[in-house]
Amino acid sequence: MSGLLPGDPAASVGGEATPRAFCVLAPNPSAMTLDGTNTWLLSEPGSDLAVVVDPGPLDEGHLHRVIEAAEQRGKRIALTLLTHGHPDHAEGAARFAELTGTGVRALDPAHRLGSEGLRGGQVLDVGGLEVRVVGTPGHTADSLTFHLPADGAVLTGDTVLGRGTTMVAYPDGKLGDYLDSLRRLHTMAAERGVRTILPGHGPVLVDALGAVDYYLAHRANRLAQVETAVEAGFRTPAEVVARVYADVDRALWPAAELSVRAQLGYLEDHGLI
Ligand SMILES: [Zn+2]
Repeated sequence: MSGLLPGDPAASVGGEATPRAFCVLAPNPSAMTLDGTNTWLLSEPGSDLAVVVDPGPLDEGHLHRVIEAAEQRGKRIALTLLTHGHPDHAEGAARFAELTGTGVRALDPAHRLGSEGLRGGQVLDVGGLEVRVVGTPGHTADSLTFHLPADGAVLTGDTVLGRGTTMVAYPDGKLGDYLDSLRRLHTMAAERGVRTILPGHGPVLVDALGAVDYYLAHRANRLAQVETAVEAGFRTPAEVVARVYADVDRALWPAAELSVRAQLGYLEDHGLI
């Protein structure tokens, strides 16, 4: 929600990102969704099959643009995956599945279409494209990251964004889970060759390790600020938001309040307040 990320601040959104990932930007920009939702078209070079991650909002024009982007590349969409169930990522999934005749796989059964589920630890092979599924709860309980080892890239949904920071959507999202997920991504960047972040919103990040370090530092700073605010007598989530998030666009305060509730819950669980 605030601050600058390492990487190229002028990086564009949409288009070819890595040899296996192409972004179609949805027309739903806002304070929460940045430039709009990034819908990802993934395919192994030379294969005629593609995977779509996060069809985005229910916007007929956008869904057709995703299908056209696949057709222009000589690809047939074989599968649709969701990083999580928030409507700006998942609302268009049922219509997209209807248009493409594909199933929709997601961690949360409520967002699936077809018999196949999705969970961390699974490895998918679509026309030779390897997609490793990594459980990264915290933004929401159902948040997944998709790892493309051949590109050294991860699709992080809303767990890591291309600009600013994200929210912990309490009570579904939990701060403890979120910190564990950031540490998991840190290990992947430090030890498993992940260099590039393909986020759910905002530009591609080419320094994955720097971005995750920034997120971890930001969360630690905010947590310390919330703890200090509580010690100073600010008690309700709204009071803490006004104190701690004074530097943040007020349009983001409702989201900040959910993050503050997540932080207060974390501090209480750990006996810190
Ligand atoms: Zn989300």
